[in-house]
Amino acid sequence: MLFEEINARCVYVRLEGVLAELAKRGDDPQAARELLSEGLLIAALMSSGIKFSGRLSLQVRSQGALKLLVADCTDSGGLRGTVALNEQMTVPASAAALVETIGQGGVVTLTLDPTGKGQRWQGIVPLEGSTLAEAIAAYFERSEQLPTRFRLAVGRDRAAALMIQRMPGPSEDTDGWNRLEHLLASATAQELLDLDGQELMHRLFHAEVRRVFPPRALSFYCPCSRHRVAEVLLGLGPTELADMIEQDEPVDVRCQFCNQNYRFDRLDLVALQHGESGRAGGTVH
Ligand SMILES: [Zn+2]
Repeated sequence: MLFEEINARCVYVRLEGVLAELAKRGDDPQAARELLSEGLLIAALMSSGIKFSGRLSLQVRSQGALKLLVADCTDSGGLRGTVALNEQMTVPASAAALVETIGQGGVVTLTLDPTGKGQRWQGIVPLEGSTLAEAIAAYFERSEQLPTRFRLAVGRDRAAALMIQRMPGPSEDTDGWNRLEHLLASATAQELLDLDGQELMHRLFHAEVRRVFPPRALSFYCPCSRHRVAEVLLGLGPTELADMIEQDEPVDVRCQFCNQNYRFDRLDLVALQHGESGRAGGTVH
């Protein structure tokens, strides 16, 4: 949605099926699931409206209880994400408390990976603020000079978020941004989760002049493949590969995003060694 007089935009995203896919990853603690949902919401919001064909990736790394979080969104709305926790540390109960353990040394990396040729872009920022949303908002404010505000809500099997963002250039309506900020802050988690996007934006912004755009569908998408896993195994080097063949045990590589397992038995590994990257089949769930 565009507020042309204010020169700002508003985006709403809602995740349902994607969260069901993530739940298949197994028993991540509640705080990790919540933070991953937040990461995916933010990745989906950020990837909307940018003229770019490829994948936007949001990554958080720290020495705290959260080791790594990855949330990816493609230009066609394909989302995937993963989270890894530091096993030596106690995992707190909520996403906010998990972010608190990050402390100094936590970094957020934003990457734009274009499809095909094209320049890869990467920005690395320290994780500031007490939530992931605040850290990303601070990044936009500082690096892009685009004031940005998020409102996120993560429920049991649904998550939703709103983002307002100023667009480059002056605004005709000098008080407009303030009003949008207040309206956004007034949205409750319940409203975010229960109302559909049109209804929610109407309830919040009905007094503002606005232009509404058709929604974009989001879905779970993981581009992993047997071929890619084969390349990773090859990338380990000839000695490593020979060792695996020697051991005569099937090698299982599980995708950390979608939980798909790729099994390479001795014959597969020998084929790899001889430059045939992977036989057909052989994949088990
Ligand atoms: Zn995968």
